[in-house]
Amino acid sequence: MRLTRYFLPVLKENPSEAQIVSHRLMLRAGMIKQQAAGIYSWLPLGFKVLRNIERIVHEEQIRAGHIPMLMPTIQPADLWQESGRYNAYGPEMLRIRDRHDRDMLYGPTNEEMITDIFRAHVSSYKDLPLTLYHIQWKFRDEVRPRFGVMRGREFYMKDGYNFDLTKEDALHAYNRHLVSYLRTYERMGLQAIPMRADSGPIGGDDTHEFLVLAETGESEVFYDSAVTDIRLGEREIDYDSVDQCRAVMEEFTALYARTDETHDEAAFNAIPEDRRKQARGIEVGQIFYFGTKYSDAMGAVVQNAEGEQVPVHMGSHGIGVSRLVGAIIEASHDDNGIIWPEGVTPFHCGIVNLKQGDAEADAACEKLYAAIAGLGLEPLYDDRNERAGGKFATMDLIGLPWRITVGPRGLKNGVVELTSRRTGQSEELPPEEAVKKLAAIYAPHHAHLDDMREPMANRSFHTWL
Ligand code: ATP
Ligand code: MG
Repeated sequence: MRLTRYFLPVLKENPSEAQIVSHRLMLRAGMIKQQAAGIYSWLPLGFKVLRNIERIVHEEQIRAGHIPMLMPTIQPADLWQESGRYNAYGPEMLRIRDRHDRDMLYGPTNEEMITDIFRAHVSSYKDLPLTLYHIQWKFRDEVRPRFGVMRGREFYMKDGYNFDLTKEDALHAYNRHLVSYLRTYERMGLQAIPMRADSGPIGGDDTHEFLVLAETGESEVFYDSAVTDIRLGEREIDYDSVDQCRAVMEEFTALYARTDETHDEAAFNAIPEDRRKQARGIEVGQIFYFGTKYSDAMGAVVQNAEGEQVPVHMGSHGIGVSRLVGAIIEASHDDNGIIWPEGVTPFHCGIVNLKQGDAEADAACEKLYAAIAGLGLEPLYDDRNERAGGKFATMDLIGLPWRITVGPRGLKNGVVELTSRRTGQSEELPPEEAVKKLAAIYAPHHAHLDDMREPMANRSFHTWL
């Protein structure tokens, strides 16, 4: 993309309505525009990041064997009356009446609807296990929408639902989701710690929230600092293996890590004092096992091997896709702007032309642009007729992890400059070498795609690539 042809409405001044850094930077970098309290338009740069996050979520769900679908945003009230949540949900639910006086609502979540789909089409244990998910807009009329997309009223969420014959199978689904979530967040350059939590209006006993530690987080958390040393990394996990998924779950949840709702002072005090941490965190996901709560209420039963009708065991699992955009910025920025992790960056590198209009500099930039695009990467070429300082400031603000600076002086010596946004370190090297470096930097992110290609094709979801 060439900047002169793009739509990147950056702001010079700090917007006064933004209280936290991610909100401020998203507004300044021209990523979002507020349309009403807690309701945002996603401008092109923000939309790109949102899509990248969504893609990673899809890839990791599909890798775990979960099946994508799409349910509507507007739901009929009857389903919620059946489950008993229509009255229980309270003023957070946006209730709508259509022209025929039918009660509708803008879905805050989809347990009822998915249970309705299940009971209409599945009747035998032979069709289990089954996990369906979608990524769809949700609406919750939050009392205090704030912090930009972190606590919106309209927000984008992945929600998945598992259906299993036994509690044991459903707990495997729970553990499998935990593993897939860890991998999802790590690919986004984030550490999200699973913490024992409270189940709230969803109901159920087993639940963990995934928290990204950040001073501006809305949740108060208590943990053993040793949990921050655990990573999934590149380990291969067989999602069908009950033992492997359970082992990861146990490893990640053995140490004390809880939200304030489930905090236990005595257990906390048993941790060696230098490892006892109280901090704040951003909730970026939550997994639940709630047994037969919805299947009992809504008659989601299957026939088991003995020919008996039994309610299915269920769980639901959410990832805050739009909140993650803010959470990643909270975790990765400096005084000059955002620092995107390679996994989610809206463009893979910036090209800054120090002397627009200089025949040699222009030609070198065009050549770089073509070479980088040839790798399947997307550069953002700042081809404006602006001073270098202004171009650097924009690049730093929007946070592309790599920048190539091209100027007549360097070109005389056959070099350009490659700069890391994260470290600020630059090196001079011939343009072809800079392109090679970028290829190597992004290779691990493409590797994820390569090893997805086969299973994706099998699961007929290749259009996402
Ligand atoms: P919170 O406690 O932050 O209100 P929740 O526990 O009610 O969230 P869940 O029902 O678990 O939310 O939804 C799954 C995920 O959706 C959350 O982990 C969070 O990342 C995201 N989410 C929930 N509410 C919002 C919101 N108002 N704005 C943006 N993201 C949200
Ligand atoms: Mg939650």
